[in-house]
Amino acid sequence: MNKQLRKAVIAGNWKMNKTPAEAAALIDEMKPLVKDADCDVVICVPYVDLQTALEKTAGTNIKVGAENCHWAKSGAFTGEVSAEMLTSMGVNYVVIGHSERRTYFGDTDQTVKDRVRAALDAGMTVILCVGEYEQQRLQGVTFEVVGSQTKIALGGVSKEELSRIIIAYEPVWAIGTGLTATPEQANEVNSFIRKTIEDLYDKEAADAFVVQYGGSMNAKNAEELLAKPDIDGGLIGGASLKAADFAQIVKAASK
Ligand code: PEP
Repeated sequence: MNKQLRKAVIAGNWKMNKTPAEAAALIDEMKPLVKDADCDVVICVPYVDLQTALEKTAGTNIKVGAENCHWAKSGAFTGEVSAEMLTSMGVNYVVIGHSERRTYFGDTDQTVKDRVRAALDAGMTVILCVGEYEQQRLQGVTFEVVGSQTKIALGGVSKEELSRIIIAYEPVWAIGTGLTATPEQANEVNSFIRKTIEDLYDKEAADAFVVQYGGSMNAKNAEELLAKPDIDGGLIGGASLKAADFAQIVKAASK
C-alpha cells in the first residue's frame, strides 16, 4: 500500500461549540497558521457557523464542512438540514455517522447509509465515521463492528463516488476521553478498513482511499499517529478548537 498516492486530510470537528462571533475569531487565528499546509484542511462546524466560516475562509486553503445532513431532500423533518441546503450555501464537506450521533441521536447503520447517499447525490464529500465501543474492543469484535459499519454505509456507492468518501476510524472509547489508540492499534484498524475497501472495490480504489484516525488526536501525539502507513489524516475534536494545536496537527500531516 502506497501512502504517497494519498493526500492527507486534517478535519476539525467543532461539535456543539462556538457562536458565529467565536467562530470568526478562531478562523482568523487559524488562517495564517495553516496557510502553507501540504495536506487538505477542513473545518466542520455547527450549522449556525457555516455562513461565517464560508466568508472567513474564502480564498484560503481551509474548506468548510457540516457535522451532519438529513437523507431527504426536503420535507417534514423538523430540526434537520438537507445536503442540498448545505451545497446551496457552498458547503461541500459533511461528517456522517459520528459516534455522538449514533449514541445520542439514534443514528443507525441504515440511516448513516441513507445520509451518505443523500450527501453523495448532492455532490458533497463525506467524512464517514466508524468505530467500536470499548466493550466491543474488549470482546474482540472490533473488526466485525468496523467492517459492518463500513460495508453497510458504502452499500450502493460506486467506485467513482468513492473518491468523495473519507473514512474516519474513531474508536468510541478514545473520543473526547484523552485516551488515544496507540499508533499500532489505530493503524491496524485503518489497514483493515483499507482491505475492506479492496474487497468491496479493488486495489486501485483502496490505495487511493483516505482513512483518517480520530480520538483524542492532539498536537503532541499527531506526528506519531500520522507516521503510520495507513493513517492518512485525522478527524480532530477538542484540539481543533485551539488554533495553535490544530495547526500543529496540520503541520505533522504536511511532512
Ligand atoms: C471527534 O469528535 O471526532 C473526536 C475525535 O474528538 P476528540 O478529538 O476530542 O477525541
